Amino acid sequence: MHLVTVTILATLIAIGLLAVASYGVYFFAKGPRERPGYCRACGYNLRGNRSRTCPECGQRFLRP
Ligand SMILES: [Zn+2]
Repeated sequence: MHLVTVTILATLIAIGLLAVASYGVYFFAKGPRERPGYCRACGYNLRGNRSRTCPECGQRFLRP
């Protein structure tokens, strides 16, 4: 293999790993807060709540 080919392949693999890593970090950071039925701000359980406002922290939400 040429050195240029190896460099290009290494760069592509590095970009791929970086993309996968950032995707994982994004989901890890975002995941727990975006659970349906729970407040986005504090994680309070909003099931059965129809006021559209979190009783725990006052955060407004569109869907209970
Ligand atoms: Zn809340």
